[in-house]
Amino acid sequence: MSSRADRLTARLDGVDVLLVAELVNVRYLTGYTGSNGIALVGPQTRVFITDFRYVQQGGEEVLPEFDRLVADAPQELPDLIEGALPAGELRLGFEAEHTSVRAHERLRELLSDRVALAPTIGLVERMRAVKEPDEIARIRAATALADAAFESVVGQGLAGRTEREIALAIETDMRARGADRAGFDAIVAAGPHGALPHAQPRDEEVKAGDVVVIDWGAQLDGYCSDCTRTVAVGDPGGEAGEIYELVLEAQLAGVRAVAAGRGTREIDGIAREVIEAGGHGEEFGHGLGHGVGLDIHEAPTLSRRAPNQELEAGNVVTIEPGIYLPGRFGVRIEDLVVVADGGSETLTSIDKQLTVVD
Ligand code: ZN
Ligand code: ZN
Repeated sequence: MSSRADRLTARLDGVDVLLVAELVNVRYLTGYTGSNGIALVGPQTRVFITDFRYVQQGGEEVLPEFDRLVADAPQELPDLIEGALPAGELRLGFEAEHTSVRAHERLRELLSDRVALAPTIGLVERMRAVKEPDEIARIRAATALADAAFESVVGQGLAGRTEREIALAIETDMRARGADRAGFDAIVAAGPHGALPHAQPRDEEVKAGDVVVIDWGAQLDGYCSDCTRTVAVGDPGGEAGEIYELVLEAQLAGVRAVAAGRGTREIDGIAREVIEAGGHGEEFGHGLGHGVGLDIHEAPTLSRRAPNQELEAGNVVTIEPGIYLPGRFGVRIEDLVVVADGGSETLTSIDKQLTVVD
């Protein structure tokens, strides 16, 4: 099978070599997991450059197709890049979304005039959006680990524990089960706090009658998982149950709509219509979902506010509608699904009926 770098070169539209500086992209292409390194990829160019701190790690991790160079000081980097490029005039692509104005200026100053700098957007990200079977296996494993942590922590009951304690317990449990780390800071938001979609856990105790939004994920072998469940502590009252059913109906409609060839906006719209028909369209302010992989938020984006995109088999996306009633409570239900021809496979295994705990 051709390497990722080979496949990237087939996508280098209008540039001769791509300078990859975004670390997750460097990891995707080279295998390198350290925190300082760049890659140069072109038809005849496979170069990885790091500094002396990461020479050994680079030697162990970086794929053999890449030549490895060491920059002893940051100011040596432009010379190393220049020396690694093919001879003659060429267009060197850089990742416009991940390059500061300052870094761009320095490159321009220090590279010779034969090298034209050309901005590129999303070249590696578009490849990353379509997962290989091995990547799906890792996301599946991260999801299973995160699911188990949730069942264990929430199964012990929530009342009397603070939001921060619960968030920490989930993160600690995931680490104990072998996660690299939490994929992102877990959200645990009880009662009115749950009406903030990106709430920070507080030192407030969860109490009987609260509806609690819990959004968490693991990172395992570099790959993230992402899930949200909304749990009731004791009887949440009739309205919370109704809102929950509406969000669940929208979530199920969203999952059912997912298939290769379907549009991201169309799927957002199908789930959104359910919530609008229930009279709560105004209270579902965010997009329906996002891609998940080496990053917790990556392509594609399922939102009416993002460009429409056809889903492809191998995309891994969340479906996460929510309703947020300010001053009262919020409900969000999020699953991770793999896009396939004619449908999808849900990776998340946790039950979606409203769970009532102590
Ligand atoms: Zn989430
Ligand atoms: Zn998410």
